[in-house]
Amino acid sequence: MTWSRSADGLLLTVLLCAGPSVADAQGGPRAPLVLALPVDCDMERDCSIQKYVDRDPGPERLDYRCGALTTDGHDGTDFRLRRPWDFGLNVKVLAAAPGVVARVRDGVPDISVKDPAAPPVRDRMAGNAVVIRHDGGWETQYSHLKQGSVQVIPGTRVVAGTVLGAIGMSGNAEFAHLHFEIRHAGKAVDPFASASSEGCAISTPGLWSPAAVRSLTYKHTEILSADFADSPQAALEAYQKTDRSSHLQNKDMLLIWGMISGIRSEDIEIFRIYAPDGGLILESKNSIKEPSLQRVGYAAVRRPATGWAPGVYRGSYSLIRKDKIMGEVHVSRSLETAMIR
Ligand SMILES: [Zn+2]
Repeated sequence: MTWSRSADGLLLTVLLCAGPSVADAQGGPRAPLVLALPVDCDMERDCSIQKYVDRDPGPERLDYRCGALTTDGHDGTDFRLRRPWDFGLNVKVLAAAPGVVARVRDGVPDISVKDPAAPPVRDRMAGNAVVIRHDGGWETQYSHLKQGSVQVIPGTRVVAGTVLGAIGMSGNAEFAHLHFEIRHAGKAVDPFASASSEGCAISTPGLWSPAAVRSLTYKHTEILSADFADSPQAALEAYQKTDRSSHLQNKDMLLIWGMISGIRSEDIEIFRIYAPDGGLILESKNSIKEPSLQRVGYAAVRRPATGWAPGVYRGSYSLIRKDKIMGEVHVSRSLETAMIR
């Protein structure tokens, strides 16, 4: 027997602790700021931009390419790990431009705000964070860093590429990511469209360096990751975790989940699981009803009457749009001893 279900969820708006504003010392037209990539991460393979700056002045959401990869009022750019368990790799967060460290915070635990065990984040929305002051009244802020990873102190001079810390999940975060925010004279600036704060259809490189632009191709839809799980709850919560353990203990069912950014109505998800002998034991299609910024879908197969065969199970999660494959992720895992007959 097979079945599939899903749950959609908009990400929480990530609010930052407001720091003191920095006036432009010259008071004249602002000097240019050139930004390098703030993460030491392959944006095609290992990281992805989940949210851009919201460019709609009202309650709607609008990113710089006229898409909806943002939440209302989001004032930064979110660089996320595609695979939650890459948290353990300590992916570096880097200074995006030369400057002097103005403020830092460390010591806030890495736990999803959706976890019932998470402590209140009221006055620590940014979690562990670094603020850098640059010439010409500019500031950059790097939020949700990993606990214990912060490498700089106030007064530290940095260049573009100086290691500040690692991507984490501290403060008001649901998953491991860097919230990267730029301010000029205390006001948030969209690094993809710095000349104006509203509207879209912008094709200028913004504040990014040529090398950063090459890494920052806008993708309206992307499969982020997929994996096996042993319960619907484990599948739906996997993106909030920081490791891959504690899965595949439940004998009753095996699931494959897929996580996707920018899914649209009428897209089709296909879930497949193959037994160690190569036999297809699950194939499930799901037609999407509602577009979503981030979605986790899953499908499950019940334990066979003869029990689970030991060995390596393989699976795939695919996205189809108008009969075209938009992406596919393959996974493989051995079942843990607890699940074997
Ligand atoms: Zn954010």
